[in-house]
Amino acid sequence: MRKVIIIGSGVAGPATALALKKAGIASEIYEAYPGPGDAVGAFMGITPNGQDVLRTLGLYDTVLADGYETKGFHFTNSFGKSFGTVPANTITIKRGLLTKSLREAAEAAGIPIRWGKRLKDVQIMPEGGIAAYFEDGSSTVGDVVLACDGIHSAVRRSAFPNAEQPRFTGLVSCSSYSKVTLPVTKDHAEMVFGKNAFFSYIIKPTGEAFWFVNFDIKQDPGRDGLRDKNDAWWHAQLKELFADDQPFISEIIEASNQPIVGYPIYDLATLQQWQNGPVCLLGDAAHAPSPSAGQGASLALEDAVVVAKCLRDIDDPSAALQKFVSIRRERAERAVMQSRRNGSRKTPHGFLGRIIRDALLPIFLKQGGDATKWMYDYRIKWDEKVNTDARD
Ligand SMILES: Cc1cc2nc3c(=O)[nH]c(=O)nc-3n(C[C@H](O)[C@H](O)[C@H](O)COP(=O)(O)OP(=O)(O)OC[C@H]3O[C@@H](n4cnc5c(N)ncnc54)[C@H](O)[C@@H]3O)c2cc1C
Repeated sequence: MRKVIIIGSGVAGPATALALKKAGIASEIYEAYPGPGDAVGAFMGITPNGQDVLRTLGLYDTVLADGYETKGFHFTNSFGKSFGTVPANTITIKRGLLTKSLREAAEAAGIPIRWGKRLKDVQIMPEGGIAAYFEDGSSTVGDVVLACDGIHSAVRRSAFPNAEQPRFTGLVSCSSYSKVTLPVTKDHAEMVFGKNAFFSYIIKPTGEAFWFVNFDIKQDPGRDGLRDKNDAWWHAQLKELFADDQPFISEIIEASNQPIVGYPIYDLATLQQWQNGPVCLLGDAAHAPSPSAGQGASLALEDAVVVAKCLRDIDDPSAALQKFVSIRRERAERAVMQSRRNGSRKTPHGFLGRIIRDALLPIFLKQGGDATKWMYDYRIKWDEKVNTDARD
């Protein structure tokens, strides 16, 4: 293997480059943005399965230092009635800090990152190898292209033009950070099923609150449809949504000290194809769960290590990538479906919907650790050779 071309420097991109380096395989990252942004953006949770990958890459301590550790998720309803707790050791971290740690580690390992390279097209070459073409007119050639360019992947569009499209979940997410004098949230992230919307928050001992809201809307506003909404617009929406809930929710939202960032939530569950010869989709480009199971980044990290192991242990790149897909597909699709189910419970319609949800939730939550074990307990043994005989 002479060169692996990685498209995208989000989570999967630099993590894959680092895992490949560990496997002795050279790669280069091509990122659309003109330079490292590391904008704080939304925050996310890294669960034990993702944390284990960070350990493999030697980045666990760095990420933990930038994050905030909680032991699970505590669920309540609009009146503060507790439904129960799902245990999950989670590092909550601002997305920009996670991608910064991964990117800086890749740079320190000598992996080149080419900025301002927005991929337009990939072409498998008849004589072997694959070419990547960028919007600035430049191109590069390698043995393999790994698409780490996110849910709206340009590689997927080019290599699999008939692929299924991301699906709008019916939910909008918005999040920000506030400074409050409310009690600290101890060990758990709090998840509140409000009357009209879902609210999640943690309050650190410093008084800094991380919060997000999910609510449903009838029509997909489109990928960029909420970009122009300012804080005043968001505050007005959220005030109305939480008017009938406990006042502390609006208190936290009103105290926001950073712009409120909102997105329509899409997911991508099942693609016919992740791979064709030397081109393969990874992370959100291949399988994008909505944030409702908190698994997107952790799955992307898992992909990074598994693809590197396959390319390390199987000489033929196409066979190695086929193996990668056979190892990863079932788990990733299951996580997307789990996340879809979690999302559908967040904002049930009408009084009756809420009654049914409130009756069933404690039963789901009682299963707690058992129901989520398959997600959180997954471990990838770096030193174990990939099984080349049987399908996984
Ligand atoms: C609001 C929100 C909350 C979330 N919360 C969680 C959570 O709690 N836990 C969790 O695990 N996950 C969470 N996720 C999901 C998580 O962010 C993604 O699953 C994860 O970032 C996927 O990583 P990725 O590298 O595949 O894609 P991305 O992180 O999206 O990175 C893609 C990269 O490719 C670049 N790119 C795009 N197009 C091109 C192109 N044409 N050419 C070159 N480069 C390109 C982009 O600029 C970007 O840098 C959340 C997502 C959102 C939106």
